[in-house]
Amino acid sequence: MDYYGSQLTRLIEQLSSLPGIGGKTAQRLAFHIVNMPKERVKQLSDAITDAREHICYCKNCFTLTDQEICPICSNPDRDRKTIMVVENSRDLAAYEKTGKYRGVYHVLQGAISPMLGIGPGDIKLKELMQRLQEDVNEVIIATGSSLEGETTAMYISKLIKPTGIRVTRIASGVPVGGDLEYIDEVTLLRALDGRVEL
Ligand code: ZN
Repeated sequence: MDYYGSQLTRLIEQLSSLPGIGGKTAQRLAFHIVNMPKERVKQLSDAITDAREHICYCKNCFTLTDQEICPICSNPDRDRKTIMVVENSRDLAAYEKTGKYRGVYHVLQGAISPMLGIGPGDIKLKELMQRLQEDVNEVIIATGSSLEGETTAMYISKLIKPTGIRVTRIASGVPVGGDLEYIDEVTLLRALDGRVEL
């Protein structure tokens, strides 16, 4: 039923199509937005459009960035010989927040999931193997502890083993199925420090 007129209904529909936003929240946000000063609304919509327009994958590590090479990859102080493999840019952000990791990353942009039909060719795995042609000492596999994360970790370790490069896995203790981004920094650091050889 269209109680609000089509413009407001359209806004509510658009907002409620976003992940984690239910009908009630969408309504609350929509009312908030239509009461905001027009200038603020423009800033918000510009930020959305600009982000979508300019964000791309880093050519080196495949994290989301608005530069060809992301700030982490282009930072000369980072240790390029240690590569931490994560599923997505949110996980990278979680490790960056600890401020303790000095290596670089490789963002798979997904995880292997036979159930969802996501195979090794659907994530940035080939790109990881290409990076290993350079001088690399250690690959830390920090995919999640979900079934997909574990499957991916196992697959990667099997691929890398023959190259002789050290492969480690972050310690378990990261809650099963838990998204890395929701885990506190102490737990993340403990998982990193307690990593085990694969
Ligand atoms: Zn990068």
